[in-house]
Amino acid sequence: MIRPNYYNGIIERYRDRLPVDEETRVITLCEGDTALIRLENIEKEIGLGIELYAKFEGLNPTGSFKDRGMTMAVTQAVSEGAQAIICASTGNTSASAAAYAARAGIRAFVLIPQGKIALGKLAQAMIEGACVIQIKGNFDDGMRIVKEVAAAAPVTIVNSINPYRLQGQKTAAFEIIDALGRAPDIHGIPVGNAGNISAYWVGYSEYAAVLPATASCSFCEERCRYPSAAVVQGRPRMFGYQAAGAAPFIRGEMVDDPETVATAIRIGRPQSWDLAWAAVNESGGAFASLSDEEILKTQRMLAEKEGIFCEPASAISVGGVLRDVKNGTIAPGSLITCTLTGHGLKDPDTAIKQSEGPVIEIPAELDAVKRAILENL
Ligand SMILES: *Cc1c(COP(=O)(O)O)cnc(C)c1O
Repeated sequence: MIRPNYYNGIIERYRDRLPVDEETRVITLCEGDTALIRLENIEKEIGLGIELYAKFEGLNPTGSFKDRGMTMAVTQAVSEGAQAIICASTGNTSASAAAYAARAGIRAFVLIPQGKIALGKLAQAMIEGACVIQIKGNFDDGMRIVKEVAAAAPVTIVNSINPYRLQGQKTAAFEIIDALGRAPDIHGIPVGNAGNISAYWVGYSEYAAVLPATASCSFCEERCRYPSAAVVQGRPRMFGYQAAGAAPFIRGEMVDDPETVATAIRIGRPQSWDLAWAAVNESGGAFASLSDEEILKTQRMLAEKEGIFCEPASAISVGGVLRDVKNGTIAPGSLITCTLTGHGLKDPDTAIKQSEGPVIEIPAELDAVKRAILENL
């Protein structure tokens, strides 16, 4: 029995728009329903009548948006009788896969690039009981191997090439429209493997009762139930942001040795290449890149000005739209939403390294503390 006011995750909330049946056993951690935070202080600074919101996906149960996709992918895998799931990951997919596998009582195998994932993410996958396989290679190497393994062994891939992942992740777009009562003009989002930008575009399109080009995937031909009536008119322009050292969409070709401080998007061979291009082109949006320096500066700014602690990879969305407002790419008066994909606590090392806030060491005495306060007011 589910109590009437008990929130039980995205599948229950958007059941009629997701590929589940009455009898499906739903594997959920009550993901979704994340805060859409108005960035009041940044808005004031930038002016120009910009209305700016952050969809803080770090507030999901494992601290990233991956949970929206994972509840759907693991629910489907379990309904097909899978005993094990597998993924390549820059960290957050492994944390999420491990959690939902634990919940379902099945095994999770996760391939991660050695030394290149934030410590919090590794801690999650380990304590949630996943089999953690560190490879001496990057995410793209892991992805290639996972595809080969899944073709030969009885494991279900839960990377975003699994179409159920995108179905779950499209619900973030629904939530944004449900909260605002309209579609934003602009949506800014970090792009790594490019599943999420594709999923948002499906979600926005579905609420506008438009079939996106992305609906031509085999999954959608079979299972998508697009509504006949539009919930809102119009869809946002999609702006996808990449780290300069891992920017295949800006270069127009795959990148062999991606490098960036934003490890969650350290990907050179995005799997959802065509879907992401379709989202940007159909929506009249664009791809752009930011330097590591700009990324970290924005992460710090969000923390200092709005009290929001997100991952470096997440901050790129806000950094990107602010730059595009300043350079005129985004028009004054626009309503902008940005996805903050993951929580800053995942990667405390990077945060501490670049923090300017003083840490003062003094004796445990009243006078010393008083002095410290007066000197730093
Ligand atoms: C996975 C992830 C991304 C990239 O999302 P894609 O769907 O791979 O483009 C960005 N930020 C964070 C924090 C992530 O975990």
